[in-house]
Amino acid sequence: KIRVRYAPSPTGHLHIGNARTAIFNYLFARHYKGKFIIRIEDTDTKRNVTDGEKSQLDNLKWLGLDWDEGPDVGGDFGPYRQSERQATYDPLIQQLLDKDKAYYSYKTEAELEAEREEQKARGVMPHYEYEFAGMTAEERQAAIDEAKAKGLKPVIRFRVPKNKTYEWDDMVKGHVSFNSDTIGGDFVIVKRDGMPTYNFAVVADDHNMKISHIFRGDDHVANTPKQLMIYEAFGWQAPKFGHMSLIISADTGKKLSKRDETVLQFIEQYHELGYLPDALFNFIVLLGWSPVGEDEIFTKRQFIKMYDESRLSKSPATFDGKKLEWINNRYVKDADEDVIVDAALRQLIKAGNLPQNPDAKTIEWARKLIDVYRKQMSYMAQINEMAGVFFTEPDQVTGEALEEISNDTAPIVLHEFSEKIKQLPIFDKVEILKTIKAVQKDTGIKGRKLWMPIRIAVTHEMEGPELPESIELIGRDKTLQHLQQTLD
Ligand code: GLU
Repeated sequence: KIRVRYAPSPTGHLHIGNARTAIFNYLFARHYKGKFIIRIEDTDTKRNVTDGEKSQLDNLKWLGLDWDEGPDVGGDFGPYRQSERQATYDPLIQQLLDKDKAYYSYKTEAELEAEREEQKARGVMPHYEYEFAGMTAEERQAAIDEAKAKGLKPVIRFRVPKNKTYEWDDMVKGHVSFNSDTIGGDFVIVKRDGMPTYNFAVVADDHNMKISHIFRGDDHVANTPKQLMIYEAFGWQAPKFGHMSLIISADTGKKLSKRDETVLQFIEQYHELGYLPDALFNFIVLLGWSPVGEDEIFTKRQFIKMYDESRLSKSPATFDGKKLEWINNRYVKDADEDVIVDAALRQLIKAGNLPQNPDAKTIEWARKLIDVYRKQMSYMAQINEMAGVFFTEPDQVTGEALEEISNDTAPIVLHEFSEKIKQLPIFDKVEILKTIKAVQKDTGIKGRKLWMPIRIAVTHEMEGPELPESIELIGRDKTLQHLQQTLD
């Protein structure tokens, strides 16, 4: 039975890299008709942030993911938060202690730090050195009693087997192997505060939740041998692992770093800018996975159908914001009008260009405006800038534009146009176009000399969307006012 999980730590918003992990697990589960589970890994209490869990789940939902088991939907293998699973860890830890596969360790943080420094100075890889090395049982007991008498709080360490190979066939990377002597010595499985560490809790949970396959980031490769040791210590079968390639920023050529604020990397940020979730989903799937053939635009259903873990890429994926814009633009062009209008309205309201609760007439107006700009937008927030002329009083006409209307014919055109639109029974693009044609007929002025003065006088720009549409959106009063200003 296929059961996979996405196991976020609620330490912040959903990052592109984590979203990718979630999506690949999701696609795998849905493709093979298995279960997709969400488990919250919140044992690192110092790093948890308020609403971290909610933000993770909300963003996953926004991207269009759904799950069969999780903290919000329940399931047969709960609870789905590690902080609520202590009762399942305690007896397992006790088993390891009883079999001497784990032990209490009293080295203080200061001692450990000094040890690392001393090792670095000697040019060896920092590692934990067994604190009871060479002691008899009595000596060891005496050392422990002394530490206890001092009131020191211990951690519990896992006893790493000596000089042993741990290996697995990674679903992405192929064969991977580690010698146990290279992993830094006996590692901590219970912290001083009594909380299990990631490496322990993840194994206990994956086993108890019957997880069959794990897809996760490349940064966990070095954890996998530790986890395999724990599986071995319990005599459990380990799931299959797949470690997905790094994500490199196209801008810097370096690993995408959460601290680099010049690259937008949190799903929330794209949501805020008015990217479409389906486009983002599409883009993320292409980070480290490739379909057969040239086509790159697919729906979620198509991806589920096509998904094949053997096409996960071993080499780093490049995160390219330009490509995301291109993909999003494709989705903007194809999406249902209501989807676009909703997303764009949100942006217009957020920027203060529309009131908080626009009335029906305003929405009707905005609908036309959005339609005019839709095909050019990579993401919805752009509408505020693109359509700026409709919201702010334009600057004075200067430079090239001023030259363009400083001739004898421009005032004639503007005057005629002005007089004619005053009388229009309906002020819409069809009537406005007819009016411009009528001005041409009556004055004999045509082409650039006809269109440019009108465009510049009304919008103060030399370029923009279709002129009749623009004028309709600007409205009769404002149009007349602008024409008059230019004539004066
Ligand atoms: N909580 C871990 C993380 O956020 C999960 C790693 C794993 O999937 O095993 O990186």
